[in-house]
Amino acid sequence: MDSPLLREFKGPDGDPFLQEPSLTPPELRLVMSLGSDGFNPFRNTTRGAFITCTAIYMVLLSLPEHLRYQPKYLYLVTVLPGKPQGNINHSLGWLVDQLLPFWNEGVYYMRTARHFLGRKVFAVLIPVVCDTEAAHEISGFASHSHTYFCRRCLLKLENIDNLNPETWPQCNPQRHKELALQWKDASEEVQKFIYKEHGLHWTELLRLPYLDPIMFTIFDKLHFSELGLKESHFRDFFMVDETRNGGEGIGFKDDSGHRRLRPSNSSLRVAWTTIRENKQSLSQELKKLSYDFLWYLCFALGLRTSITVLPSYISQVREKWGTRAGGTLGGDEWNTLSTIHLVVSLIWIWGYEYDENSRRFQLLLNYLDMVHALHAFSLCETSPSLQNYYLARMLKYLHGLLVLYPDVSLKPNHHYAVHAADDLRLFGPPHARSTPVFERMNHTLQQIPSNNHLGKLYSFFPLIKLTLFF
Ligand SMILES: [Zn+2]
Repeated sequence: MDSPLLREFKGPDGDPFLQEPSLTPPELRLVMSLGSDGFNPFRNTTRGAFITCTAIYMVLLSLPEHLRYQPKYLYLVTVLPGKPQGNINHSLGWLVDQLLPFWNEGVYYMRTARHFLGRKVFAVLIPVVCDTEAAHEISGFASHSHTYFCRRCLLKLENIDNLNPETWPQCNPQRHKELALQWKDASEEVQKFIYKEHGLHWTELLRLPYLDPIMFTIFDKLHFSELGLKESHFRDFFMVDETRNGGEGIGFKDDSGHRRLRPSNSSLRVAWTTIRENKQSLSQELKKLSYDFLWYLCFALGLRTSITVLPSYISQVREKWGTRAGGTLGGDEWNTLSTIHLVVSLIWIWGYEYDENSRRFQLLLNYLDMVHALHAFSLCETSPSLQNYYLARMLKYLHGLLVLYPDVSLKPNHHYAVHAADDLRLFGPPHARSTPVFERMNHTLQQIPSNNHLGKLYSFFPLIKLTLFF
């Protein structure tokens, strides 16, 4: 609520919408965010599962942070079968109908807990925060694979490797609304033309007179960071995949390409017996063995790996992560993996065994740029210096990717990461507009018994409301 954008946001009377609490205004002024997240209604968590339902939530940002994400204070707007493409405007229209009176003239409650004679309530919806696919659908933008893939600027997808924000064509909110209105009243053929040429479509949220879809549709940290940049670095740059050999991982070849010959199991067993006997001559016996033999011996005994012990309040990562059997990792697991396990491991194997000019050392530095940048982004407090630090580190990381991986193009999330610096400046730290809560709520929805018939969820919808809110 202390973010610069909300502090400067003007109400319908032209005065700041949020007044100083010390002034005890006669009306109650509330700010709510809108979020959405998909889930598999059949509880299947296998990676790549494609059956999806979409839940839409609202969070009352005016509540203190320790209360706003409690299930009893969240508002489940609706659950849609499938992804929100094309079928979300019906629900949004109903929601906007409810919200408009809270902006135009306010809604008078006859009695509240602290006001015996009642009180008038004004409320606004700021911001929209969810994953890119849902955010673009809810706020009226084209898909992230469209030529105009970004909701903040008009950079074309073919120029996504351009990392100079000053050269990105800017969106015009007024022009955006005019084109969206044209789309709304046009034939299907013209709608397709507008979508193709301008990358937008109508959304019922545009009926809210104060809503700026360009600035109020923010980049969600969970999806652009944990499930975006971090997962992308693993899969696209380090190529961690069970179906192919690792990209830059240290294998059984040394830096000069020399392939170590694997000793026989019997010779490894003999060496292991010698070690267990632990005679006085052990060190002399080991010195007789070759470097490659000792390397394999350590590898077979698990001495080339170490165990990182995490505190209980940090999410553990499942053992078979990255494989189909391991299932889909959650945001917390990607965070633990990328900011703790991989940092420890990579510094150990790339930071000490290679000189500063080696490719692997440069890969390590590049990876740490991302970790540093996202750490600064994730802090519970922010400041202009932290915001500048985030942007500088993120741009350094992205420039590094283009140099170190010239055959891999940047993805929309990399571009969004630069825009996210504006969100940090305007909306403050990301924990205040968090979306992991939607994943937890979706988990609750998944546990509700259903008839396993997709598209007929409304039959138990009242049960969901009862379960969640009472
Ligand atoms: Zn952009």
